[in-house]
Amino acid sequence: MTRSMAAWTATVLTLFPEMFPGPLGHSLAGTALQAGLWRLETVDIRGFARDKHRSVDDTPFGGGPGMVMRADVVDAAIAGTQAPGPLVYLSPRGRPLDQARVTELAVGPGVRLLCGRFEGVDERVLEAHAVEEISLGDFVLSGGEPAAIALIDACVRLLPGVVGAAETLVEESFTGDLLEYPHYTRPQEWQGRAVPEILLSGHHEKVRQWRQARAEAATRERRPDLWQRYLARQSRAKEA
Ligand code: SAH
Repeated sequence: MTRSMAAWTATVLTLFPEMFPGPLGHSLAGTALQAGLWRLETVDIRGFARDKHRSVDDTPFGGGPGMVMRADVVDAAIAGTQAPGPLVYLSPRGRPLDQARVTELAVGPGVRLLCGRFEGVDERVLEAHAVEEISLGDFVLSGGEPAAIALIDACVRLLPGVVGAAETLVEESFTGDLLEYPHYTRPQEWQGRAVPEILLSGHHEKVRQWRQARAEAATRERRPDLWQRYLARQSRAKEA
């Protein structure tokens, strides 16, 4: 066991600490939080403002709309926080988050997440701390907090003991290069729609083949990028 005894820790630097744990206090993540399987710390960036108005933002040099979070205030918040894990700024300019990065973060000691507001954070503080920038996707949120919640949720469900059956994690979307096959449960017939016959057959190998075929079809149709990666990996596996 190389894993340290301290629980995986998410530290969120934010102007809105009251947004946490929010959704992370419920269901799977919430139960695990209460059980001590992971820890959540918030750091109120406003607590590091030094002027009498406690201002955390100012107008952008060069003009233009909106406000920018001040480098000195954000730097003080980072410096004043002892916490494990890489420092990440949630940002639409970041590298899009994927399951591979989520997995890396989940096996580490934790993550420190800087949430922007307004137009974002002064570039110099990102440079000074060599901050990793991660995006949730090609759309713009009003703040980094919902993105931080999504990232933490994705990590927490990979922590040992959080999800009951380990197979659930192995089979699902993105652990391979394929999207997941479709799921069905009771009622067996619903609004005139039947469940695919094969799933009722009890024939495990045929079910497995059907699911594989459906996963491949979904990936080919919906995500040509993942499909190409899958094909490339398959042909490399054949050559080896
Ligand atoms: N002016 C910026 C948007 C700022 S939105 C631009 O056009 O790029 C305010 C904050 O929301 C950002 O600082 C960032 O922390 C967060 N945010 C917005 N969209 C995001 C996304 N797609 N992924 C992660 N964080 C995002």
